[in-house]
Amino acid sequence: MRGTLPGSSLMAGKERRAGGYLLREKTTEFQKALLRWFARHRRDLPWRHTPTPYRVWISEILLQQTRVRTALPYYERFIKRFPNLRSLARASEPEVLELWAGLGYYARARNLRRAAAMIVHRHHGRFPATQRELLSLPGIGRYTAGAILSIAFNQPEPIVDGNVRRLISRLHGITRRRSEEYFWRQATAWIPPDRASQFNQAVMELGALVCLPSGPLCAQCPVSGFCEAGIRGIADRIPPPRSKRASQEVRLVLTVVECDGRVLLCTKQPMDFVPGDWGLPAAAIGPAEMAHPAAHALARGALRMSVRLREAGTVSHAITYRRIRAQVFNATLKVKTGLPRPAAGYDWVGRAEAERLVTSSLYRKALRTRSG
Ligand code: SF4
Repeated sequence: MRGTLPGSSLMAGKERRAGGYLLREKTTEFQKALLRWFARHRRDLPWRHTPTPYRVWISEILLQQTRVRTALPYYERFIKRFPNLRSLARASEPEVLELWAGLGYYARARNLRRAAAMIVHRHHGRFPATQRELLSLPGIGRYTAGAILSIAFNQPEPIVDGNVRRLISRLHGITRRRSEEYFWRQATAWIPPDRASQFNQAVMELGALVCLPSGPLCAQCPVSGFCEAGIRGIADRIPPPRSKRASQEVRLVLTVVECDGRVLLCTKQPMDFVPGDWGLPAAAIGPAEMAHPAAHALARGALRMSVRLREAGTVSHAITYRRIRAQVFNATLKVKTGLPRPAAGYDWVGRAEAERLVTSSLYRKALRTRSG
């Protein structure tokens, strides 16, 4: 394992008080404490069973913008249907989107398929094992490349996301903004070269289970002895609360599919920031993403058949700091043999009942948006 970090002997008095002094002085002990804790407390997640580059890649893309609990059934279905690169490279776009239905940000799914085809074509199916090759693939940025290289190939490559940034800020006891490179440097420096895979997973796990955004569990933390914010009792002040949170634009597609006087609803709220238990089928989309194909994938996932949708209009809505712009797509199904059976998690509900069940005015506005 790596010993102390460079520059520790030249530590100035001011730096001793904050900025990673404890970590620099005791890197080996820190690595051991974190790895010991991870070996005992790691969650049993399916992508950890066989961490091949392909599986790590699929799980990392799924986990962008999606919580672990939500991602789990999608991961299982995806790996069952596309167990390896070649099967994904051969798939059609609608097949991949169908498995992604309901998760939103469909560009992720399209990029997976494109990248799989490029790997098969350019690298003859061998998963790239260098950062340069990985970054040239669609949908793979610095974080995802680092995760694949470290977790699957055990290369000492760093990962930095919101969790890692928060963890480093607290361990260093820093309350002021730092450059992005500051975090990448620390995330590079603390990796034990021979245990990068376990170590980076342990860092992610600590951020997800113990060093929580609000209410960090310092009393249960395996590295509290190395943490300047924990020792000084200021962990819950890092990062500092924003006085006024910057507003965030969110693009959604919503579908209002009707049949025989009934409306298709999700029996579980599809968007975690929208209040209420029930909702319309909805998915978030990226800034440059086309709305119509996303709506089509959503309806196809809900009904397991293609539906002809028409764009009905746009609904604007605000929830806390989110400014939502939802494009609404309608369809009225004509069926002779009763209501089509929806996928699990969806149900047909009478129109008046639907208005009562969806408590958010975002959905109510969408229900009243008519095409033509
Ligand atoms: Fe996070 Fe507290 Fe552990 Fe520091 S001691 S790393 S603030 S949980």
